[in-house]
Amino acid sequence: MATKKKYVYFFGAGKAEGRADMKNLLGGKGANLAEMCHLKLPVPAGFTITTECCVDYFKAGGRFPKGLEAEVRSALKQVEKEMGMRFADPENPLLVSCRSGARKSMPGMMETVLNVGLASCTIPGLIKKTGNERFVYDAYRRLIMMYSDVVMEKAEGIEPVEGKGIRKQLDDILDDYKRQKGYASDTDLTADDLKSLIATFKQQVRTVLGKEFPDDPWEQLWGAIGAVFKSWNGKRAVSYRRIEGIPDDWGTAVNVQSMVFGNMGESSATGVAFSRNPATGENKFYGEWLVNAQGEDVVAGIRTPNPLNKETKNEQNKHLPSLQEAMPSLYQQLDSIRTKLEKHYRDMQDIEFTIQEGKLYMLQCRNGKRTGTAALNMAMDMLEEKLIDEKTAIQRVEPAHLDQLLHPFVDPAAETSAKVIARGLPAGPGGATGQIVFTAEDAVAWAAQGNKVILVREETNPEDVEGMRAAQGILTARGGMTSHAALVARGWGKCCIVGAGEIHVAGKQMTVHGTTYREGDWITLNGTRGIVYEGKLPMIDASENPRFKKFMQLVDKYRTIGVRTNADTPEDARIARAFGAEGIGLFRTEHMFYGAGSDQPLFLLRKMILSKNAAERRQALDELFPFVKRDIKNTLAAMEGLPVTIRLLDPPLHEFVPQSPEKQAELAAALGITADDVRKRGEALHEANPMMGHRGVRLGITYPEVTEMQVRAIFEAAAELNKENKKAKPEIMIPVTCDARELKHQKAIISRVHDEVCQRMGVRSIPHLVGTMIEIPRAALLADRMAEEAEFFSFGTNDLTQMGFGFSRDDIGGFLPEYLDKKILPADPFQTIDQDGIGQLIQMAVERGRATRKDLKIGICGEQGGDPASVAFCNRVGLTYVSCSPFRVPIARLAAAQAALEAQQQKKAKPAAQKKSQKASPATKTKKKPVQKTKAKRK
Ligand code: PEP
Ligand code: MG
Repeated sequence: MATKKKYVYFFGAGKAEGRADMKNLLGGKGANLAEMCHLKLPVPAGFTITTECCVDYFKAGGRFPKGLEAEVRSALKQVEKEMGMRFADPENPLLVSCRSGARKSMPGMMETVLNVGLASCTIPGLIKKTGNERFVYDAYRRLIMMYSDVVMEKAEGIEPVEGKGIRKQLDDILDDYKRQKGYASDTDLTADDLKSLIATFKQQVRTVLGKEFPDDPWEQLWGAIGAVFKSWNGKRAVSYRRIEGIPDDWGTAVNVQSMVFGNMGESSATGVAFSRNPATGENKFYGEWLVNAQGEDVVAGIRTPNPLNKETKNEQNKHLPSLQEAMPSLYQQLDSIRTKLEKHYRDMQDIEFTIQEGKLYMLQCRNGKRTGTAALNMAMDMLEEKLIDEKTAIQRVEPAHLDQLLHPFVDPAAETSAKVIARGLPAGPGGATGQIVFTAEDAVAWAAQGNKVILVREETNPEDVEGMRAAQGILTARGGMTSHAALVARGWGKCCIVGAGEIHVAGKQMTVHGTTYREGDWITLNGTRGIVYEGKLPMIDASENPRFKKFMQLVDKYRTIGVRTNADTPEDARIARAFGAEGIGLFRTEHMFYGAGSDQPLFLLRKMILSKNAAERRQALDELFPFVKRDIKNTLAAMEGLPVTIRLLDPPLHEFVPQSPEKQAELAAALGITADDVRKRGEALHEANPMMGHRGVRLGITYPEVTEMQVRAIFEAAAELNKENKKAKPEIMIPVTCDARELKHQKAIISRVHDEVCQRMGVRSIPHLVGTMIEIPRAALLADRMAEEAEFFSFGTNDLTQMGFGFSRDDIGGFLPEYLDKKILPADPFQTIDQDGIGQLIQMAVERGRATRKDLKIGICGEQGGDPASVAFCNRVGLTYVSCSPFRVPIARLAAAQAALEAQQQKKAKPAAQKKSQKASPATKTKKKPVQKTKAKRK
């Protein structure tokens, strides 16, 4: 039998129906208010309307569900009893606040209405009771300002022109009034001033919104509850959810709570505080407060808030008295609440308090947001203080926090007031500021003169590499997360934004919505969020924290999946090893043909490509051989015996054909042909769809000598290192395969060359593995057959996503933003594995591959390998390792440890749940099982 839903949960002095672990139903704020009541802290009584009610409200097209009204009235009765006041009572009126509160905190993203219940029927009684006319009218003008904005405008879907909303208009009226009267602060307003302002406010509301301000407390209450629900779908909330990955169907709870007033005079105050410093993590009580004010004043920045204590004093506020100085005994009380809360929650708390005529009340507590540095310091401090255990410490630091620790980032305070020029895909993390240059050569030249530059391009190509290296950051108008610019930038840990489609680059200038930016103009990139700002914003250099290493050691203790790196040069390999990489999961050999020192090998490669017969090709390959061998040997040496997955040549060859007439002429001379011949041969190699053309293993099938040269280089490099008493563990990886026969063909070459090299070098064998990338859906489907030939798999999820979706990885920037906006896709599948679709291919290939070869080593080397959600997925489906760019190695290590801990917790929770269901009736058992299964699959 269906039980009736309970929509309303009461909380008040020492008792509550909710608890801290009911966040899903009561939202974070509601659950914690209930918990604070259980802790016997001074919390004004109130009740929470559940998130489930919000969901039902939307389902019913914006109507309150049946039964809610009765539950609200009954809970309000309990609150009235507790507080000794009555809502809408003419003599002893209770006022309430209505605040939002989602499962996961979304600070400032949804709405709040304070002082609900003030109307002509309650105002005189409240004045009489408090003897404070000024306070009552101050509360009333605040109600009008908030209510007209939140309930009468935003919740009604009215979208005024920027800066012309009702709230702003009323603020302007208030400011004009103060100016006319020569008042410096809101607190200078007298009761008469406020009365006159209220009349003007009401008139303005009537004129602008075409409605009277409601004079009935009950109408106000229901209006406010509905508006808070609706604020779940407000613009700010929706964008915030998009950024934070919070599902749209969670809904918000509404907390209706008795008002306590920080604006009742000099013995009243309000403030916000953190139990530790949220910027540095220091174990010092940290906060701000204001005398004679309501909570919104502290956050709104109208008055400079006072420091909480001496630790919080800074240049702006040091002249103002701290709470510690002004109200020492209340400060003491608050400080002991801080200790109690930290002990209870075992985490840094963000609290809101109000002091009403000398009495302290707690209005909120929640786990505080923190910077990466603070997260790390607090986790390690709390571990040392024995407040938390190792597993908890690991879960306290978000993988994204490590990003901040490893890259300089844009000062968030400066970002709030900076002008946004454009948005694009966040391809390389951190921040960068510099002067615009439009060509790679200029980037190099300007940087050589000591200038900081941002390289802005329509899109980048391999020839831009030097300029990209020299620039602080890279911005492109086209391209997706796996475009060339993105891959290269991430590999270097460089800030990069790609696919910023609003930008138009023409010659040495760029235009964005009619504004032109020229060479030398300053811009700033936030590569973590994909935002381009005008001007030079300050950067915060997150220099290495000494605790970072210790924390990472802890992380590795709990991690079960391996973490390797995608590295193309010995330098990358060294960086990645310093960050803890346990091998190379992808060494793209072709990168030796880009960037510094590539002239000679690139020339020889081009010679090989343009050869007209096998003899010419062999000649060019022989000349290229020493370069390839040198590169491989250096990388194997840098990894000191750790496995190195060396991928055979992958890109379509025409990418390397020279475009410039000089280079064409140079090549022509070397080949004894004309420049025109070079151009013609280049054209002959041209393909309509090169991504699906002559690339990867197909090159090795048509030109076996290309495979031969590469594997000879690998075996000789490894054998030479072994002779020097150095370990080398090459793993030869064949790309872009779709059939086991391709592997068989290539393996025959590899095996022959192996034996030849052994014989020549006088060794019995050279340890190595031969495996393949799984990056074509057909290869995933036929994984059982592929595993007959392959000793390892590595998922190339860039191509697997490209071919699985049919989305070009280089062009997705053109339509992805709309796909995300219109909620057709939840995220960019080139950034995070599409677990629903591509994930199935991966899971299937793992199962089928291991059915053939039980000990099959399986990794991932697509860009998603460094994304925390994808790492968790790889952990769950049983991959041996993930591989990602060097700067993401620590992030992947942390994500892997967190995934392992989560899996442990789920395992533990399972027997408990099973025990429970064994006790339950058979009917419940059969009902519950399938639900749990689908959930586990989706996660
Ligand atoms: C892939 O396709 O995921 C991959 C790693 O290879 P590339 O990006 O070089 O095509
Ligand atoms: Mg690929």
